[in-house]
Amino acid sequence: MKLEINNLNKTYKGGKVKALNDFSVTLTPGVYGLLGPNGAGKSTLMNIITDNLKADSGEIYYNNEDVQKLGRKFRSVLGYMPQQQGLYDDFTLNRFLWYMAALKGLKKKDAKLKITQLLETVNLAEFAYKKLGSFSGGMKQRALIAQALLNDPEILILDEPTAGLDPKERIRIRNFISEIAENKIVIFATHVVSDIEFTAKEIILLKGGKLINCDNIPRLLSQIQGKVFELEITADHLDSIQNTYQISNLRYSGETITVRIVTDHTPKVVPIKPVQPTLEDLYLYIFEDT
Ligand code: ADP
Ligand code: MG
Repeated sequence: MKLEINNLNKTYKGGKVKALNDFSVTLTPGVYGLLGPNGAGKSTLMNIITDNLKADSGEIYYNNEDVQKLGRKFRSVLGYMPQQQGLYDDFTLNRFLWYMAALKGLKKKDAKLKITQLLETVNLAEFAYKKLGSFSGGMKQRALIAQALLNDPEILILDEPTAGLDPKERIRIRNFISEIAENKIVIFATHVVSDIEFTAKEIILLKGGKLINCDNIPRLLSQIQGKVFELEITADHLDSIQNTYQISNLRYSGETITVRIVTDHTPKVVPIKPVQPTLEDLYLYIFEDT
């Protein structure tokens, strides 16, 4: 299975906003973290893949076939969880899933089986007859993931599935996504590094509509190897350090502050200790000015 995205361009406002800039990537089964700050173009990319938005130029191939030509056949292998929630608050979960199953053209018998199964998968069976409006953020997100899975998609597109969740719910959602990702191409958009740090096969770094890199984490981190340091300073030096370096973390202990920095230039201040880079450091390094 292969999804090939070639040279996508998309502008808004008559060309004034360039949301995607010659974006290309080829995906195979596994979880991809689509990482970039707000405005990077994540939702635009997902809307184009799911055919909710037309690109200005570029092509998408699914198993070497143009998805525009595949049309419905391609849409039938897609599952999409959009970024916005809060719709359908008056629906019970059960009614919502039946409604979505109808929109996707599932047969009644198949829908019944699938809905029963999915309610278990997303751990919401006991809430099937409760209104979505009464759900917590995490329950709503799981309900939205369930609808995306109704048609057994081969490609699962999740637009910030952890947005608005507390840390415990985030952990549950991302574990859950890893569980269901088997044999699927999953694209998981987020601006939160920890969402994908341990579960993604590769990270797609998107900045200003441009692909910065798509690779596994060890290879991504090798590019800032030797650029991350910790230094111990006293509070009166903090301002000058902050003005000079990208700070990725501050840790206070008694009189001193341990400052973690990412920099192309080895600092002359002492004492200084080179440390192993993390994805958080890389995020800062790449997106420092956004
Ligand atoms: P992300 O999902 O990464 O936050 P988006 O794809 O939503 O990024 O947005 C990319 C850029 O395109 C941003 O500058 C955003 O303001 C702009 N944009 C997105 N949708 C529209 C729209 N419908 N009209 C005008 N500009 C838009
Ligand atoms: Mg978005």
